[in-house]
Amino acid sequence: MTSKTENSKMELATFIDSLMDEFSLLSDEKVAAEAIQDFGSIENALGGIDAEIENAIASLGKDRLSKARAALEESQKNATRLSDPTQAYQQLADFITSEDGFRRLTLAARNGRASSDDDATSAIFDLCELREFKQSSPQPKFGERAKADFILQELGITKPEEIDIEVIAWHLGAKVRYGRLTQCEARIIGSDDVAMITVDEGAPPQRQRFSIGHELGHWIYHRGQTLCCQAGDIELPSDQSNNLERVADRFASELLMPSYLFVPIAQSLGPPSMRVVQQLAEIFKTSRTATAIRLVQLNQRPLCLVSHTKSGRRWFARSRTLSGNWMPSHELRAETAAFGMIFGKSAPKASPRCMNASIWFTRRDASRFNVIEDSFRVQNSEVISLLSVKEEKEFLCQET
Ligand SMILES: [Zn+2]
Repeated sequence: MTSKTENSKMELATFIDSLMDEFSLLSDEKVAAEAIQDFGSIENALGGIDAEIENAIASLGKDRLSKARAALEESQKNATRLSDPTQAYQQLADFITSEDGFRRLTLAARNGRASSDDDATSAIFDLCELREFKQSSPQPKFGERAKADFILQELGITKPEEIDIEVIAWHLGAKVRYGRLTQCEARIIGSDDVAMITVDEGAPPQRQRFSIGHELGHWIYHRGQTLCCQAGDIELPSDQSNNLERVADRFASELLMPSYLFVPIAQSLGPPSMRVVQQLAEIFKTSRTATAIRLVQLNQRPLCLVSHTKSGRRWFARSRTLSGNWMPSHELRAETAAFGMIFGKSAPKASPRCMNASIWFTRRDASRFNVIEDSFRVQNSEVISLLSVKEEKEFLCQET
């Protein structure tokens, strides 16, 4: 039996063959002359063929995406989940001792603070549900290509609103479930090439999306391993550490905010600012912190993003054009808007505001530069500041 996918593949192959025929025809002088008449130049005619191939590949991907969505909806309708722990433990024990017991387990819990009986029981339920889950997906063959981009393009994703994280997870063999977790924010349990991702139903939606992306990162990079995600912060800049957690965070960020969609949209919104971050966060349904980090890391302008609490600097991220000797100070100075937001009893100073770069950076010649500070407050009395560095001779601060 030929599946629909096989049919689409054959259609695509025929289509590409016909384009290739057109392509070889272009070397014929008469045809080439006609092409120049129709398209203006041979380059334009070839560009047209390229675009047709790209569209054909994207539409094949979109076909995959809509099939995955339909299969996911079907599975949600038919989901059966045990609710009796004794029954679940019994089922699991039978299964483990049976011949086709679990193989190659993957296990990771995000921001687990401690283990709790409730979470352990819900993990047992996950394992029982996993047995019923027929969507098995071996690791895609990524080759040299960036993994997140590969997955998105395989699904023909060309707009931010198409980044449906549950459908993407399904396509990768992982089913997402929202439930109560008491000691961690998200967890993945996998056996062979199927997995269940459970996300805390109480977390904000942007955070849930990032957590699912993070667990999928473990699924792609650390399949078959048992990890204990370290307690601590999520979405921190990934260049500060290279451990398994940062790998998973980086994957989540690349999957939810792929550069091929993020960069052109960010550029169309104007120079980097918190207003732009807010707009991008709404478009990509990501947190402001994760979005700001991505904006800085993908930017060509000299930018620094720094986080402070009452006890000083927590972390920072820099764009590639800001060299390593641009170190943000540990302590905040009173002239900054961020200081007012953390310590101020009166209304905080307006942000964005312009000031000398030496107020923010320890670099010896920092005073030759100015900085535009745009700060915003996040939870737990943390303030994040987006700093755009400008050469003083090119950019003077206006007294306000
Ligand atoms: Zn993790």
